[in-house]
Amino acid sequence: MPGEIVLGEPSHMLVPGYGTETVNIVRLWRARGSEASFDLSRFSAGQYAEAVQEAVRAENISKVLYPDDSTELGRELRLKQQYFLCSCSLRDIIRRFRLRNEGWDDFAEKTVIQLNDTHPTIAIPELMRLLVDEYELDWDRAWAITRKTFAYTCHTLLPEALETWPVHLFERLLPRHLEIIYLINMLFLREVEERFPGDVDRLRRMSIIGEGNERRVRMAHLAVVGTEAVNGVAELHSKLLRETVLQDFADLWPAKFQNVTNGVSPRRFVKLANPRLSDLITEGLGDDGWLRDLERLAGLERLADDAAFGERWRAVKRANKVDLAAGDPDSLTDVMIKRFHEYKRQQLKVLHMVTMYHRIRANPTGDWIPRTVLFAGKAAPAYHAAKSIIRLINAVGATIAADPVVAPYLKVVFAENYNVTLAEQIVPAADLSEQISLAGKEASGTGNMKLALNGAITVGTLDGANIEIRARVGEENFFLFGLDAFQAAEVRIAGYRPREHYDRDAELKTAIDSIADGTFGGVGQEVAESLLGWDEYLSLADYRSYLDAQEEVELAWRDPARWTRMSILNTARSGFFSSDRTVADYAARIWRVSPITVRREP
Ligand SMILES: *Cc1c(COP(=O)(O)O)cnc(C)c1O
Repeated sequence: MPGEIVLGEPSHMLVPGYGTETVNIVRLWRARGSEASFDLSRFSAGQYAEAVQEAVRAENISKVLYPDDSTELGRELRLKQQYFLCSCSLRDIIRRFRLRNEGWDDFAEKTVIQLNDTHPTIAIPELMRLLVDEYELDWDRAWAITRKTFAYTCHTLLPEALETWPVHLFERLLPRHLEIIYLINMLFLREVEERFPGDVDRLRRMSIIGEGNERRVRMAHLAVVGTEAVNGVAELHSKLLRETVLQDFADLWPAKFQNVTNGVSPRRFVKLANPRLSDLITEGLGDDGWLRDLERLAGLERLADDAAFGERWRAVKRANKVDLAAGDPDSLTDVMIKRFHEYKRQQLKVLHMVTMYHRIRANPTGDWIPRTVLFAGKAAPAYHAAKSIIRLINAVGATIAADPVVAPYLKVVFAENYNVTLAEQIVPAADLSEQISLAGKEASGTGNMKLALNGAITVGTLDGANIEIRARVGEENFFLFGLDAFQAAEVRIAGYRPREHYDRDAELKTAIDSIADGTFGGVGQEVAESLLGWDEYLSLADYRSYLDAQEEVELAWRDPARWTRMSILNTARSGFFSSDRTVADYAARIWRVSPITVRREP
């Protein structure tokens, strides 16, 4: 018996193919109060707010995507939202299937549901509920169909980012789904017990229910158990998933685990975002076939040493910088644009800027290369540490802007409200792409791809898709630094003490001391404390290596012909990172579907 009735109102977003006759549909859902939720008698009595409070509650479900989950009420709303969106889509999928099919034999053959992260995992028990409770299939048949229908893409390596829900929340909100999950878990653990008899610790590790102080439903485990394929989003990520976070599952079902490296749309992130570069590429290649077959960018390689082409390549970048108007268009435009998270290490970039500040002040007549450092990104609403870093960046920017010695060489800008539209403006103007996460933490990254395709050169660690970018553009066209994932794990195991780096490296000490002592508007204490106290993501361990890589950046920048060649080769060799290739990989390896030609009806 439902405790609450909510209406799902669909709307369509049309997605036309580029130069094709096909229009795909993204179906979106809005939550509405049902007719019964409007209380006419209260309305008639003048209690207007009370009359619609049920409907308002329903509509809140789809007001905000990913509502803040730092409070109990927020968590409840978030789980409701997940359930609402999944249930609407499943009912719609089933409705359409049944328009043209009898029975259920072909359902898994004709339907694939790709779980984009754990957020829609509740769709697995919901499909079971629909098949068993509403369509009265027996459990085994329903489970065979469900498992064949779903596939799961994991997007993280951070254990704390793998969603879990308190059992008590399920008991209150989705009791029938919890029953179904318990049964799925019992049958699953029976399978594990058969393969690994007596391995109680393995059962405990793999269970869909975590038995800690508070029992929790582990959505990633449910997603692996209830699907036919699981993939990571870059080679390293998929390997680390198999070897760490999901190792027990890879032992049990090795064939289930795959890799599909992420990609970005060349239509949005090159043609639309960077029309000047697109025109130059089309001219250099002779036609615009690269927009539908991005590997054709390889044809630009023969122009990498062409002085006249290089001149025009530089002119495009300069014009894009003038448009962006973040700083002097002749300065090195150094961008770090991504969500704020400590693993992404915006704090390491801050240490670099503060070090540059001290170097320039100590030697005002040095041969400094003017830089504009542009940050953009949001922090999750309850992520206090990330917000302290944003506050510090703004303070460092203000202090530098007010310093007549440093300001001519260094400008630090924080662009608000980072979103795709802003990314489209910043990416074409970037010279240097900061991809400096601690190795082993960034699943893939896609900003790195957008920037490389637009001729920015990466300074980065061996993390996520950076590895694949470097392998393709060539190590001489990539500024590498830092520990690799294996070394980072070793440092952790050996017992990491950030203070040792601070005590040993005078420049690092000066930088952190000045962050802590109020040099930058008195807002750096928290960041300094966290760096010196535990430095979760080894920023201090990678500091010196990062500064050395930045010296290499400046050396290359002083030679415009060399820089331009590197930039052209980054674009020429990044065709692999097209989302067309990604989608083709999903189609071939996970969905097992082949392309068909769609023709317009006469
Ligand atoms: C591409 C993009 C991202 C992903 O950036 P990463 O550097 O890969 O983390 C995040 N937000 C927006 C708005 C983007 O366009």
